[in-house]
Amino acid sequence: MVKPPIKDLNRCRAILMLRTAKCTQYDVSGYIGTSKKNVVAVEKWFRELRYEEAREVCFDNALDGVRAIELDHLKSWLPTENQNRLDKMDAISIMGRYGIVKIEKQRPSILHPRPSEHHLKLARAAEKLRQNIKQVKETKDNLIGNIMRGYTQSSKARESKQPLQDVDTLDADCLLSHLMTMYPEFRAIGSWDTLTTRKSVAGISPYMLRKLRLIIHGRALEGTCEVCRSWYPRA
Ligand SMILES: [Zn+2]
Repeated sequence: MVKPPIKDLNRCRAILMLRTAKCTQYDVSGYIGTSKKNVVAVEKWFRELRYEEAREVCFDNALDGVRAIELDHLKSWLPTENQNRLDKMDAISIMGRYGIVKIEKQRPSILHPRPSEHHLKLARAAEKLRQNIKQVKETKDNLIGNIMRGYTQSSKARESKQPLQDVDTLDADCLLSHLMTMYPEFRAIGSWDTLTTRKSVAGISPYMLRKLRLIIHGRALEGTCEVCRSWYPRA
């Protein structure tokens, strides 16, 4: 990828977001505290990226981060209509503005991307899976069922069943798609429902558990899954 004109990618994103929210180049330079020349240069740079490169710069979780870090201080004095556009903005509207994807005029509402909701669902699945994995790893009990649904049972006292948390299987699959792109270690799992024994669960390392925890705490999801792939038709 050609280097961005401003080193800090989040500031580049903030410029692209404000411009997509229809702020003028002059206003954006004031809001971001950079020259108008830089604003123009960032827009030109982004417009010329290939789709795959643009996706690395512009994905919904990154935009959420920019809203919280770079743009939060503007909230009290940005004109309401610009602010409303910013609140609703997703990656595809920015890529549409710069001609990287084609946006159909009337997108069917069912396909309207809801990135925060998507992240929240997958974060919940990650939380439950993490607790289930810990439950299996921390006791000497046997796993009955699989890591998404079942219980643990002591081999000595058969009546002592400890239920696992039920995890939505589609959310779990989608989460795994993202995880496999982000951390190759997760590719060995293949599918959560293959984790049916203590031994297979033991293969999930503390490193992998830490990555799950990062997702739970809002780490941006990279790559795509069956759900979010449908949001980004190729131009
Ligand atoms: Zn996804």
